[in-house]
Amino acid sequence: MAAVKEKGSISIHTENIFPIIKKFLYSDHEIFLRELVSNAVDATQKLKKLASLGEFNGELGDLKIEVSFDKKKKTITVSDKGIGMTADEIKKYINQIAFSGATEFVEKFKDKTDAKDIIGKFGLGFYSAFMVADKVEVISKSYQPESDAAKWTCDGSTEFEISASKKETRGTDVILHINSDSEEFLDEWRLKSILEKYCKFLPVEIKFGTKEESVEDGEDQEGKKKYKTVTSDRIINNTQPLWTKSPNDLKDEDYLKFYKELYPFSEDPLFWIHLNVDYPFNLTGILYFPKVKNDFELQKNKIQLYSRQVFITDEVKDVVPDFLMLLHGVLDSPDIPLNVSRSYLQSDANVKKISQHITKKVADKLQELYKKDRADFEKKWDDINIFVKYGIISDEKFYDRAKDFSLLKNSEGKYFTLEEYKEKVKANQTDKDKQLIYLYASDAGKQHSYIEAAKNKAYDVLLMDGILDNHFINTLEQKLEKTHIKRVDSDTADKLIDKDEKLETVLTKEEQDQVKSIFDKAINNSNMTVSVEAMAMDDLPVVITMSEFMRRMKDMAKMGGGGYAFMGSMPDSYSVAVNGNHGIIQKILKAETEEQKLKLAKQAYDLALLSQNMLTGADLTNFIKRSVEFVA
Ligand code: ADP
Repeated sequence: MAAVKEKGSISIHTENIFPIIKKFLYSDHEIFLRELVSNAVDATQKLKKLASLGEFNGELGDLKIEVSFDKKKKTITVSDKGIGMTADEIKKYINQIAFSGATEFVEKFKDKTDAKDIIGKFGLGFYSAFMVADKVEVISKSYQPESDAAKWTCDGSTEFEISASKKETRGTDVILHINSDSEEFLDEWRLKSILEKYCKFLPVEIKFGTKEESVEDGEDQEGKKKYKTVTSDRIINNTQPLWTKSPNDLKDEDYLKFYKELYPFSEDPLFWIHLNVDYPFNLTGILYFPKVKNDFELQKNKIQLYSRQVFITDEVKDVVPDFLMLLHGVLDSPDIPLNVSRSYLQSDANVKKISQHITKKVADKLQELYKKDRADFEKKWDDINIFVKYGIISDEKFYDRAKDFSLLKNSEGKYFTLEEYKEKVKANQTDKDKQLIYLYASDAGKQHSYIEAAKNKAYDVLLMDGILDNHFINTLEQKLEKTHIKRVDSDTADKLIDKDEKLETVLTKEEQDQVKSIFDKAINNSNMTVSVEAMAMDDLPVVITMSEFMRRMKDMAKMGGGGYAFMGSMPDSYSVAVNGNHGIIQKILKAETEEQKLKLAKQAYDLALLSQNMLTGADLTNFIKRSVEFVA
């Protein structure tokens, strides 16, 4: 064929879309490579499909895609051995489809404020090449027998040139002449890391490198060192990532190995779920339950979202329910509409269904583990409770499923389901208003004396020391009927569960008033409200508590919760219950001097502070001095 050269003009609506695209895509230029390699993969897959249908009978041969670059010539080339294009097809697909796709994209998003987000993430196909190149060549030869190779050249404007090419092998080379702003991409490390980010699991092998290096190769006859040139290249991708395989063919080791491939520095996960749905939407993936450390915020955004094995993003916020964002793994769905805006994504029916499906699968898996081996489930509970609690707090439907396998752990390290726990404490922990009272400690060490006091009354104390437990308690209280949940130090042991059983006080009314005024004087702090109570003789002489209500409001203020912010600046206020029945009170009343009375009261009060971890500074020093005096 003679070297006919044809010049033409691409007909699109917007004359110059290039500057607009360039502006929008400024921060995400790297996706050009993902787009070009994806096109190469599509072209290869199409050829395989034609071969399987008997419509292509030639030799498939080596189908590897090659990505290479030339620093001197300032080019990056993506070559495939796929179906290729004839000159007419180039005109049709590249001039029309690629350019009109880009035009449409720009028209749709140029006025939107979040356009940058969207375009950056989801690309523009072939046209994105012009973000980094001021000239693009496409040299292609179609798979169809006897077809002529063609070469297309364009600088991103509406003018293009097409001519015959001498290319003899099937497939397409896309050659980018990198512009001066984008020379950062002419770098082996940079290109490799982009390929590894987006193309790591593409279904066709991708070769990258072809780096020529001179290495020593023995000596020649005159004793001079000899050199030879070696080219090193390597395959970037795993073409059959685990999630594309059938769960029945996989062993635990396979899942663990794949996890290491995804997160090389993480501890082994606890367990995993292999998702495989094809109706009413298409979704595959593997979700891992990681070992969660306390800094759980940092662990978010670990799930990677793919569309037909092309990496799209690791921000899966709208696809995965919030409480499962802590999971790790991959999701792959061609049904997630990626090229639309975020608000649309949230209201998309498919996305909602996917999210619900994932929730259901997670609940099923947990239920299965619970049913299969309760003891093992209990062992895992400390690691997984965060997911379950987060789910219960944030998702009504999840609670309905999780209430059967959600566990409560008590201060003795025993585990109970919600139902079991209710049965356990019902008899002894129901108050005079028929309300069930659950007691909990948020810190078994610090609240030890309160736990002991509660146990003395044969009460059970739950351990709620997780980062979500404050919220979880609030949610539980709303879900469980006639149940209140109180921290074990929110009142004196007698009053934690009000059963209308009043202990008799040994003090007269006058004595009570006298004791109160001695303690008021000794404590001398307006945030401490003193009362004299009738408690058991072997309870502590003084008990400091903060009411459940007060503490919750303070907690909310700390978290910046709505109308409680004002409480954050208020000083903590406590109740000081003086045990009128304790021996020390008689001692105080009988002490000879006012000074002795105050000293004893102060000592008893300091002991209470000490047991709450509240005694510090000068108060602590004085307490120690005083104690030494008493002992001496
Ligand atoms: P999309 O891939 O979303 O259709 P693109 O703008 O990336 O849009 O590409 C436009 C069209 O050009 C493709 O649909 C395809 O027909 C053709 N094309 C692009 N790259 C290749 C290639 N490497 N081999 C064969 N055809 C290609």
